[in-house]
Amino acid sequence: MSAGGSTGAAPDTNGDADVVIVGARVAGSSLAALLARGGLRVVVLDQATTIGFTLSSNIVQADSLAFLDRLGLTERLRAAGLTTMDQVDMRLEDFRAVLPFPTRPGDVGGAACLRRQVLDPLLVEAAREAGADVRLGVKVRGLLRGDDGRVVGVRTAERGGGEATVRARLVVGADGRASTVARLAGARQYHVTRNERAYYWTYFEGADTGEAPTFVFHRWGDRHLLGGPADNGLYIVGVSPEQHERETFHDDLEGSLMAHALSCAPIAKAIGGANRASRVFGIRRFSGYFREASGPGWVLLGDAGHFKDPAGGRGIGDSFHQAERLAPAVTRAVTENRRDAELDRLCGEFGRWRDRVYAEYYGLASDLGVAGPIASVVPEVVRRLHARGQGGRVLDLLSHRVGVLGVLTPGRVAGATGRLLLRGGGRRALLSEVRALGGTEIRRRRAMRRPAYAPVPPHAETELSA
Ligand SMILES: Cc1cc2nc3c(=O)[nH]c(=O)nc-3n(C[C@H](O)[C@H](O)[C@H](O)COP(=O)(O)OP(=O)(O)OC[C@H]3O[C@@H](n4cnc5c(N)ncnc54)[C@H](O)[C@@H]3O)c2cc1C
Repeated sequence: MSAGGSTGAAPDTNGDADVVIVGARVAGSSLAALLARGGLRVVVLDQATTIGFTLSSNIVQADSLAFLDRLGLTERLRAAGLTTMDQVDMRLEDFRAVLPFPTRPGDVGGAACLRRQVLDPLLVEAAREAGADVRLGVKVRGLLRGDDGRVVGVRTAERGGGEATVRARLVVGADGRASTVARLAGARQYHVTRNERAYYWTYFEGADTGEAPTFVFHRWGDRHLLGGPADNGLYIVGVSPEQHERETFHDDLEGSLMAHALSCAPIAKAIGGANRASRVFGIRRFSGYFREASGPGWVLLGDAGHFKDPAGGRGIGDSFHQAERLAPAVTRAVTENRRDAELDRLCGEFGRWRDRVYAEYYGLASDLGVAGPIASVVPEVVRRLHARGQGGRVLDLLSHRVGVLGVLTPGRVAGATGRLLLRGGGRRALLSEVRALGGTEIRRRRAMRRPAYAPVPPHAETELSA
């Protein structure tokens, strides 16, 4: 269907909306709230009839809490059961310390675990209150294109049957990992990595969370566990099977999860007298990727454009971060009535920013999600930073407030290698590990500089719940 609109021509301001956003969760609704506050006419479409549970554990860091505060949601989140965490009990191999979360002016907490059925509806509410027209139960099936091929809107299937169209200057795909907008727009994937670890998590009630709400993050050998107070008095426990258990772990999901949970002293203590309050959720196969971020009339946000190993718990915060970056550019282009080509250029700039900023964090997430132990220089760098009173740098890394190379500098890695050698660490193994780290870093940079575009990987995602 041709719906008018042309890259070089004056913008079509008569569409149904300035921007149509597909997907009403953390990426879509937060962008909608920001754009609508900027005075734009925004339509948000989601195929779900209610925005509740979605398969995701739900750790958010200080930057996300600060964003939610800027949206004016802190009080509502508290009323909905938000508990913020003040400190982290961190173990990386034989390094262990309890560190206060670093905070900055405007922060409302170091981290929190907010289930999506609590967080996402409040974002939808914020979008609606800002003036966005959020329509649920509407599935996007097609893109409308102008005579020149530019995307000028979407074709939808309504719940009760029948098709409709929504025309807009910009279509935002905030529709998650299996993004329909990305597929229809032909956005190619690059730097695709397959997961090495599976993740399972559940919630307890009646946990003993001690005096200071503490996030437990323990990674040693082939183990990876997290725990901490969630909303409404719940306590989340997340585990990742060791490689030898990978195929059998889910045969006795509850027993396997509990065995892991009890192997971690602070989590075992917290849940000692607690009861399970939910099913066990899990994910066994997924891929990390970047997708081409934009094209004429369209742009991708959140998981639709980029996904990484959830070991670092960042997808929600990254969606907010991206929404806050994209919103001012789009608002400016629309309110100043700039030409479509200028809007597209700004979206292209957003994509280049995304790739530049997230490339390092993508690598960090893969490093945390690696099968087996993490590289031994990493705990050594952290140990030294902690000894110098700079342990907060590591937590700033997890909240993406500092870059990977701002913490794991070549100098610190070299220093850590030297100290490990002096302590009698196996020389050959250590040097080959450091060489491998360097080689991986070079490969990753190349993969971003000269993308090898890939089709969607052949293995389907497997999501589990029991
Ligand atoms: C196992 C796992 C654990 C995770 N743990 C964490 C964590 O602890 N912390 C963290 O920050 N992140 C975590 N993440 C990542 C986080 O869940 C995602 O980054 C986040 O959900 C991305 O939000 P989004 O809005 O981009 O997409 P989504 O949350 O996927 O929302 C997409 C929306 O688009 C809608 N949609 C899709 N197709 C259409 C269509 N054709 N028409 C209309 N609507 C459509 C869907 O109904 C959905 O509501 C985890 C992810 C996984 C898989």
